[in-house]
Amino acid sequence: MFLTETHVQVRETARNFADTVIRPAAESLDREERFPSEIYEQMAELGLFGIGVPEELGGPGFDTVTYAVVMEELARGYSSVADQCGLVELICTLLVRHGTGEQKKLLGDVLSMRRKVAYCITEPEAGTDVSGIRTTATRDGDGWILNGGKIWIHNAPVADLGFVLARTDKEAGNRGMSIFIVDLHSAGVSRGPKEHKMGQRASQVGALTFSDVKLGPDSLLGEEGRGFHMMMSVLDKGRVGIAALATGITQAGLEAAVEYASQRKQFGKAISDFQGVQWLLADMAKDIEAARLLVLSAATKIDRGEDATKSCSIAKCFAGDMAVQRTSDAVQVFGGSGYIRGFEVERLYRDAKICQIYEGTNQIQRMIIARELLKKGARS
Ligand SMILES: Cc1cc2nc3c(=O)[nH]c(=O)nc-3n(C[C@H](O)[C@H](O)[C@H](O)COP(=O)(O)OP(=O)(O)OC[C@H]3O[C@@H](n4cnc5c(N)ncnc54)[C@H](O)[C@@H]3O)c2cc1C
Repeated sequence: MFLTETHVQVRETARNFADTVIRPAAESLDREERFPSEIYEQMAELGLFGIGVPEELGGPGFDTVTYAVVMEELARGYSSVADQCGLVELICTLLVRHGTGEQKKLLGDVLSMRRKVAYCITEPEAGTDVSGIRTTATRDGDGWILNGGKIWIHNAPVADLGFVLARTDKEAGNRGMSIFIVDLHSAGVSRGPKEHKMGQRASQVGALTFSDVKLGPDSLLGEEGRGFHMMMSVLDKGRVGIAALATGITQAGLEAAVEYASQRKQFGKAISDFQGVQWLLADMAKDIEAARLLVLSAATKIDRGEDATKSCSIAKCFAGDMAVQRTSDAVQVFGGSGYIRGFEVERLYRDAKICQIYEGTNQIQRMIIARELLKKGARS
């Protein structure tokens, strides 16, 4: 359903790469909290970054459904790796939509991972409520001076380029924010230590501080004052990506649980012979299937240019909650082994939790779903 021959071909490429390269490395990457440059270089060669970047700009020019399919497969291998794909996709989408000709030249370096990117929104006082950001960019001749700080930024410890949301007009509320492309090797940029996280531990997350960082006139992405709107405009795609990632994590859990249940013997039989265990597996399979269909439906709406906001929030919310519940079931199938480091399901359960938090928490997804329902009607 929904998938064309091209989708299936790209899915096979991602699945094969996940099976042969990503999944075998996941346990050690998690344990060592290591940034897997060598895996990203191979992904860049396979064209697995910047899926939606048009061919004339150096990308493969695929649709959102392809992006979702790739995200699920990569996350089935290891969600930290898929997360990098999601981050690059968001940045590329912003650059393609809003970049000047000169700024679009950055795409080559971003797609090849020669330059690593960071998407810098969150601050200590501004998480869900982005309108609370305090980072400022003030006019300085024909350029800008950046001051402030960001926290929990994916890639912050390793990134070369930051896409930073800053306030350019203190009086203009959400219309007073702009996005700047910041060379993170510039004077005045400092980085906090790498955070040690519950899951997705190969993803490098940390803080960035900007002290009188000089920005040239060409550092402004899109129009001044449109940063909040630009950021919101890529959220639908971002949410589909996280929903697909959550589905992939859970699919890996189901595969591990089915295999283990068939091999593990108690009371003289494989535990898969017990109905109590079978129902855990069946519930995992049914919810994964539902999440996958929600993802494909939301992605298709984006590709058709339809209003996809509610569908993307539903997919993200359902898949995120589902991943936490069903990877917990996978742990349950493994019994005590599922609680021990080194067993894949233990990591998957930890990796799943963030899917309810980033890209808008699941409370916020529910607020969006309710808002859309009340505005447009229950059949909207
Ligand atoms: C691993 C990781 C990677 C991240 N990567 C990035 C990144 O690359 N770039 C970036 O900018 N940020 C990133 N973040 C930050 C992330 O986007 C925020 O953590 C998230 O938006 C939530 O903000 P908060 O943590 O400040 O929670 P808060 O906003 O303080 O929320 C706390 C709780 O209150 C609830 N809540 C808040 N407001 C409401 C409301 N109106 N109604 C109901 N409930 C509400 C929330 O749902 C949550 O349960 C990352 C975070 C993590 C942990």
